[in-house]
Amino acid sequence: MSLPPLVEPADELTVDEVRRYSRHLIIPDVGMAGQKRLKNAKVLCVGAGGLGSPALMYLAAAGVGTLGVVDFDVVDESNLQRQIIHGQSDVGRLKAESAAASVREINPLVNVVIHNVALTTDNVLDIFAAYDLIVDGTDNFATRYMVNDAAVLLGKPYIWGSIYRFDGQASVFWAEYGPCYRCLYPEPPPPGMVPSCAEGGVLGVLCASIGSVQVNEAIKVLTGIGEPLVGRLMIYDALEMKYRDVKVRKDPECPLCGKNPTITELIDYEAFCGTISDEAQQAATGSTITAQELKDMQDRGDDIFLVDVREQNEYEIVNIPGAVLIPKGEFLRGTALELLPQDKKIILHCKSGARSAEALAVVKNAGFSDAVHVGGGVLSWIKTVDPSLPTY
Ligand code: ZN
Repeated sequence: MSLPPLVEPADELTVDEVRRYSRHLIIPDVGMAGQKRLKNAKVLCVGAGGLGSPALMYLAAAGVGTLGVVDFDVVDESNLQRQIIHGQSDVGRLKAESAAASVREINPLVNVVIHNVALTTDNVLDIFAAYDLIVDGTDNFATRYMVNDAAVLLGKPYIWGSIYRFDGQASVFWAEYGPCYRCLYPEPPPPGMVPSCAEGGVLGVLCASIGSVQVNEAIKVLTGIGEPLVGRLMIYDALEMKYRDVKVRKDPECPLCGKNPTITELIDYEAFCGTISDEAQQAATGSTITAQELKDMQDRGDDIFLVDVREQNEYEIVNIPGAVLIPKGEFLRGTALELLPQDKKIILHCKSGARSAEALAVVKNAGFSDAVHVGGGVLSWIKTVDPSLPTY
């Protein structure tokens, strides 16, 4: 299915622009008309992280006239393995500003708009309204559903990508011509079921593989060439080195883009996706200690049994002295319980406090009523107790 171009062409290209974009101009399918459309295009990239980095760089180089960057985060050393729009000297700098500086260096003809804000239901519609096309580089389900809903409500196409370890996916969601993200994934996964890249890792170069597919599709949609990934899900396996695509149909019952939509405005996405399960939330209430409190207990010589519920790889990167590694899966399978002493206070921790809250629910259900977990996990330990340790 080929689609009409999304953007009208700009009046003309300057001499500088003709020189810069000559390798595009001599491709018959792009040509002068296509490059003028790119010049007139306004593209917003949500997130200047793993996917946003290559996406912004290639969108800039391609000559997209206006590029927006939404990000409120700052550059961390652990970002540099894949977020190639940022460099060593950008550590500690706002990602949106660092990304904008790189875009200007790649192509000073691009008008960069910095949105140094967290995307929320209060601002997403206003921000999206100023753009023709959205490129989604977010890494969490709440924002992903919000991006989808805002794009559908505004009638805008958006280009979605997702990455994890060696696996990537991408699609173009455009309710006018095909399905939306909710047609593909009507429900978010249960909280804690799908690990994030921060928990499970991601091969750095995978970001380039998927980010460049997103830019490829953006250029096609903006200029109306080729067969866009509308109604198709592209699946990439970097270990097998295989790309395949599967058809995704518009769901006539989709609550957002179907025949009788029930979602006609933005909803509470945190509540919709949940951050941790109800059981974990309940278990953690009143049973959460700080990293400093754990340190005080250790210094006093309290009779505690500290369990790290992360995975072996994570434990090897950094661990809290005295912690015994028993991964969360062993708690969910029940095999961890026999390893816990009955006569000591059980203290669980993970990376940031979500997985340990889930394990805590299992431990408390098994009768360890005074068990607790460390809020903020090992990251909080590094921040407040021992900043000399590496973070990840
Ligand atoms: Zn839909």
